[in-house]
Amino acid sequence: MYIDFHTHIDFYKKEELQSVYKDINKNNIKVISCAMDDESYKNNLSFSRECNNIIPTFGIHPWKVTSKLPNLDMYNDYIKNTQIIGEVGLDFHWVEDKSTYEPQIEVFKHFVQKAKVYDKFLNIHTKGAEELIYNILNKENMLEKSIIHWYSGDIYTLRKFIDANSYFTLSVDLDTSQKSQEIAKLVPLDRILAETDGPTSLEWVNGVYGMPSEIINVYNNICNTKDICIDELKYNINKTYNNIIIKKE
Ligand SMILES: [Zn+2]
Repeated sequence: MYIDFHTHIDFYKKEELQSVYKDINKNNIKVISCAMDDESYKNNLSFSRECNNIIPTFGIHPWKVTSKLPNLDMYNDYIKNTQIIGEVGLDFHWVEDKSTYEPQIEVFKHFVQKAKVYDKFLNIHTKGAEELIYNILNKENMLEKSIIHWYSGDIYTLRKFIDANSYFTLSVDLDTSQKSQEIAKLVPLDRILAETDGPTSLEWVNGVYGMPSEIINVYNNICNTKDICIDELKYNINKTYNNIIIKKE
């Protein structure tokens, strides 16, 4: 079994969904499909009813936070039902509208506090706000419950997350990005997870539209970088998935 710990099935076009499900089932992949917002969560929920290897998770992505803070209490039921919270986080790099930064922080803190109350993991986008995210998670004692998605910040902060036992998803740029390889080498094997981040991420990296089975290449690239065999990597990721993160199965 392969596990994609961070993807977005709702980024595929409607007419592609049947071949996406086929690709997932044929290659025995479990996919954690992160929400961007409540609408996106509902779509992922409906995909999971058609393909039970899809695990829908709820969060509000920092790109979806506007300068006006939403009524956060309306998300309570979704938060209770989701197995992992995500995608959540902060983005001070790609988001240029600074009027969203304070609301982004409020929304993120809300999800971190709820994750603590309900004892759930968080799938976290950290772009350009790595140190602040570290501090927020540290304050709530939630660093060990954090999956840091496709980390690209500085090595100083990375080491702090590693020392605090956070988890990391390595992504589709591992064979081409020296920085990502450096990060992969530093993260201990029992904290490594894999992701594809949806079809458009690979497209952003090298122009190829990614199907879910792209996760197999990510696994192989992790093996090359860490100099381990595929069985050892699968054993470690499956263990984390079964014993730590997805407790219901
Ligand atoms: Zn994502």
